This record gives sequence, C-alpha cells and structure tokens, in this order.
Amino acid sequence: MQHRLSVLVHTPAHSGLSQPLSYLSDEAFPLGQLVRVPLGARETLGVVWSSAESDAHPEHTLRPIVGALRDLPPLGQDWRALIQFCAQYYQRSPGEVAWAALPQALRGLDLTQWSRRWSRFERTPAPAMAGTRPQGPDLTPEQSEVLATLSQGVSPCLLFGSTGSGKTEVYLRACAEALARDAQSQVLLLVPEINLTPQLEARVQARFAPWLGEHAVVSLHSGLSPAQRLQNWLAAHCGRARVVLGTRMAILASIPHLRLIVVDEEHDPSYKQQEGARYSARDLAVWRGQHTQAQVILGSATPSLESWHNSRSASAEGEAGRYHRLHMPTRVGSAAWPRVHLVDMNHQRRDAVLSEPVLQALEACIARDQQALVLLNRRGYAPVLHCGDCGWKSDCPHCTAFRVFHKRDRSLRCHHCGFASRVPRACPDCGNQDIQGLGRGTEQLEEHLGQWLEGLRRPNGEPLRLLRMDADNTRRKGELEAQLAQVHDGAIDVLVGTQMIAKGHDFRRIGMVVVLQADHALYASDYRAPERLFALLMQAAGRAGRDAQANASGQGCDMWVQTHSPQHPLFEALQAHDFPRFAEGQLQERAASGLPPFMHQALLRAEARSQSVAQGFLQFAETAAQALGATTVQIYPPVPMAMARVANVERAQMLVESASRRHLQQFLPRWLAALQQSRDAQRGVLRWAIDVDPQSI
Ligand code: ADP
Ligand code: ZN
Ligand code: ZN
Repeated sequence: MQHRLSVLVHTPAHSGLSQPLSYLSDEAFPLGQLVRVPLGARETLGVVWSSAESDAHPEHTLRPIVGALRDLPPLGQDWRALIQFCAQYYQRSPGEVAWAALPQALRGLDLTQWSRRWSRFERTPAPAMAGTRPQGPDLTPEQSEVLATLSQGVSPCLLFGSTGSGKTEVYLRACAEALARDAQSQVLLLVPEINLTPQLEARVQARFAPWLGEHAVVSLHSGLSPAQRLQNWLAAHCGRARVVLGTRMAILASIPHLRLIVVDEEHDPSYKQQEGARYSARDLAVWRGQHTQAQVILGSATPSLESWHNSRSASAEGEAGRYHRLHMPTRVGSAAWPRVHLVDMNHQRRDAVLSEPVLQALEACIARDQQALVLLNRRGYAPVLHCGDCGWKSDCPHCTAFRVFHKRDRSLRCHHCGFASRVPRACPDCGNQDIQGLGRGTEQLEEHLGQWLEGLRRPNGEPLRLLRMDADNTRRKGELEAQLAQVHDGAIDVLVGTQMIAKGHDFRRIGMVVVLQADHALYASDYRAPERLFALLMQAAGRAGRDAQANASGQGCDMWVQTHSPQHPLFEALQAHDFPRFAEGQLQERAASGLPPFMHQALLRAEARSQSVAQGFLQFAETAAQALGATTVQIYPPVPMAMARVANVERAQMLVESASRRHLQQFLPRWLAALQQSRDAQRGVLRWAIDVDPQSI
C-alpha cells in the first residue's frame, strides 16, 4: 500500500508554496523523519511534517519520495514545535526556518553519501563518562545563593550580575547540576560571538570533558567547516553531545534531552538574526525552555531593557514579573570598580585626540607597569576625506555613506558595500592637492599614540608595546586569538581598538580604560543607542580592576570618558555604576513615548532599484492594511531607511505597532497573505520582508 507523506521542503520565500507538500511512499515514516524528495527537476532534503492521509490531491498527481535518511533518529516533537513557532512568530515559512536550522552539509547529501557519512559518524567513539563530577572553586556567598534558587527549578531567570561577579561559574555549576540529573540530559550554552571568547570554550571543555568524556562538549557556530558543523549537529541530535556551546544559530539545533539553556550576555544585539528568518535567539530560548521544561538563564551585567522590564516586580506595568531576577552585585575577590572620570572636551584644545588629564593618567599607568585599554568605536584612519576648497567629500557612489580613509594601504573603503579605490592625490572635483581626513578612527589613534609613546619606557627600560585590534586586522583565521593571547600574556602595554576589545575578556592587568568619542551614539536616531552605549561603557569598565596586586595595594583603577556632553544622565549612572538607575530612567522614557518594551513593533522593508518602486510597494501595503480594517495596530507611512541606499539598492521601510503583542500577531499573517497575492504591487521590488521585533529602526 502507498502511504501519503506530508513533507516540509525549502521553497523560495513568497512562492506561495509555504505549506508542506504531499508525496507517496511505500513505507510509513514517523513525523520528523528526514527524507529525500523530488522538487521540480531537483532532488532535495525534506522533513516528514504531518500526516497527510486526508489531503485533497488525487493520488496519481503525487510523486514518490526518493528515500529516507536511514538510521538517523527522527527530529522530535519539541524541535518541530520550535520550528513551527519560529516560523509563525517571525512570519516566515516553516520550510525556510527548518532549512536554516539543518546543517548545510546535510542538505547536500544524496542517499548514498548519507549512508557513508552515517557509518563514519557511528565509528567515531561515543563519549564515555570518564571521571567524577567536577568541583570548581569555592563559591562566593552570592553565587551560592543564586545556585540555591536555581536548583529549585525557577525559570526563566535573569541573572543580573556585575562584570567579574562570577556569572560564568554559575552557568557551569548549573550545567553540572542539570547534567548530573540523568545520564541523557543535555545543556545549551549560548554566547554572542564565540571567537571573542576563546577562553570560554576552553573553560567549558576543561570542566566537562574529564567528567563526561572527550566528545561530550561540542560547539555550533558559523566559524566551523560544514563537515565539522554536521558532525557536531549529529552529536547533539543523537544525544552524544551533552554540552552544546554555540552562537544564535544553535538555538534551532535538535537537542532532544535539553534541560538547561543559558544565554550569556543576553543583551547582545547579535542574538537577533538579521537576514532570512529574523529570529531572536534569546526570545526563542525563553519559548523553547517553557515548551520543553528546560530551565532558562539569561545573564548580563547590563540586561536588555526588555528582559529588565520582564523581571520587574509584578506590580509594574505590562509583562513585568515574568522572569525571576537574580542579583550578583559584587565582583569576585578583591576586584575593584574603576573610578569614572568625565573629561569635558569642550574645554580641551579643539584638535586634541587625548586630553591632558588622560595623557597624565596614561603615563602614570605605564609607570606602574599596568596595561591601558583605549576604546574608539570607529575603524580606519578617518571616517571621511574632504576638500576644504570645494567641499568634496569621499561619498560612496553606491551607498548613502562615506568611504573611509585607510592610511595603511592608502585606500578609500566603503564599510557597507566594500567598494574600494586608491586615495586620490588631489580633489577629484577641483584638483586641490590638500585634501584632508575629517574625524578619527582607530588607525589614526594608533599612529598618534605610537608617536606619543616613543619617548616613554616601561619601568624595566624596555620600549612600550602598542597593539591595535579591530575588524581590519583580525579578519584572518587565528589573528584575533593570537592578539588576545598577547594581551593576556602581558606582552602589550597599550591596547587600542573598537568595541571588540571591550567584550567579555578576562584581562588581568588593565589599570585604566579610556573611551573616546563616546557621545556619537547619544545623538544617533535609533532610540536604542543610549542602551547600547551604556552596555558598551559598562563592559569596558568591567575590563579594568582585575589586577589583584593593584587592588591589594589600594591603588584601584580608572576609567576616563572623553565627551562633549558630560552632563548627560547616562554618565551619571555610569559613574555610580548603577545600571538599575539607568534602566528605570530609560524605561520611563520608553513608556512615555510609546516605545518597546511597552509597544510591539514590526517593520515591513522593501528593496528596489529606486525609492519610488520600494515606497510604492509599501504604499500598497499601507492600503492593504487599512482594507483589513486593522484597528488594533497602528500603521505608519513608508519612509526611506536611515541608510537609504546600500550597494545601489534603495531601501524603504514602514512601521506597524500595537500595544498588544497578540493583536500584532493576529494582524501580521493576514497582511502578509494580502501582500503575497499582490503580483502587480511587487513588480520591480527586489526583496521585501517583515521583521518582527526589529532591533533597529
Ligand atoms: P563574569 O562572567 O560575571 O564576568 P567570571 O565568571 O568571568 O565573571 O569571573 C571573573 C573571575 O573570577 C574569573 O577569573 C573567574 O575564574 C573568577 N571566579 C569566579 N568565581 C569564583 C570563585 N567562586 N572563586 C574564585 N574565583 C572565581
Ligand atoms: Zn575640491
Ligand atoms: Zn558603499
């Protein structure tokens, strides 16, 4: 007898084929079975999705499947529910989400290749419990208290712990607890960017491999080769991997015995996927935890305002009271908080890169043989080249942006589309030979500091060692790790760089942190800019003060912030090291101006060769929304995006919002269906998509 299978396959977005397709099979396969099926002239991977016995297609119109990926356990109900939810919430097809969740190398294997691959996987040794449960250091009183609460199973939790308060130790203990509960249980540890924290991977390995076996810890992130990623995915899916350490993509992995999900640095914007299915791994973690009875711990020293709000006591507005807030205010050991000094740049020489007090402090820091960290969130030499005679600026011909001057290779480079050319000798418009950089980037700061440091020596008489770290000189494999190791080993005295030097590193000898041009973000159009800046500054502050010797001698450490607006309340909260004060202030503003988390938003974005086509589509969408009689959502008119053009593509967007997440969720699929049917309105549109809970507007 022939069975009907309803199979989820990957179909192009908006093709109208967003539902599973029906196929015939000699064998009845369980839901979640991976199969190969014909699709048009191709053969593709599919997932048996629902029972299709009752579908309306006459049998002779259906094609048979090619075959099943034998031996691979079917994807479980939990995973399928997660994919379904993700698709529904973020307004994508389940096929697209499933496709994104399955390792690329798996999608390309035909059945013969699959059986070979599977036997290779089976031959790799399964991890065997090797030793006894690891111990770790004695806990601080705050860590003990938090772990005692966690062991009661409360979930989801927001672990609000200062930088250096020992959150990582809490995660590792909570993982050990979950793993000890039964021999199958698995845990998932999410981090924003794995290559920025190579120590963490080593720390997790060192803790769990001696206990659970060498292959019990696997990682899942985009830096792996496709073959390695498939291997690790299989290990997680088949239960061999007990600890999965990964970036946002790992939230969609099949982990059948998942008991705990940790989201480290939960405020980090990189948890939001920015293309295709634009999901938030943090929000999916909370959903997945609730759905599978896995405990969820979100951790941060500067939580997102969403999570902070969700963990306010239930008497506050809206969705407050949903998360349990756990607090670890104290840094481990003798680690001190830096004293925060604001330097009012209005009172410094106009062309001063580093102010007088900062230079003095830097000299003193070097004399103490401590390291200094100088943060400037702009790479290149100068953000724009400019002709004083005629006003020419180094625009990118393809984007609404300037090309950045890179002195090292004398190039002008657009950081958005990659377009690069050599720096012209003279102004292309008027021939003036004296064209100059406006503003400053990390390359220029490195040059400037290099000159200044030349006259100085370390206490032992050796010359000073300066290192710059940014996306330009850490691109090649291994470069970033090598540079971080140099800083750790104390081989660097002054470290200059973009935000990547501020994140998560456990540097031990930083005596001072300097932040330049901090206020650029304060005047950005994005309402999340202050939140991001505050997080960055707190992170940067957290790098300092881990030098036990300096702390023991009562010397402490310092943070210097050069700004033109020292009176901004954000800096006051920073000086007091008071995240709650900052967060409450921001939440009040957000509530007053009707912004998230008090409002739920979605953006419709359209891209075309011209603004008029992109906006034309959005105007159609506006009319379509009104025709749906949507009274519970507010629809805003189409506008060009803040960066209207990137790589010759014009971009426009339109905001819809509602005070009720449910109302917005009810509206979106109806609207999407109307848009998908509008062949005429889509003419000339290159791409369009809905972004639910957008991270930037
Ligand atoms: P966080 O993740 O909160 O920034 P970490 O977990 O990195 O903090 O801890 C900061 C430092 O303190 C690390 O070097 C860590 O090894 C150490 N540490 C954490 N917990 C303890 C403890 N209970 N006893 C001694 N050292 C600890
Ligand atoms: Zn000119
Ligand atoms: Zn460009």
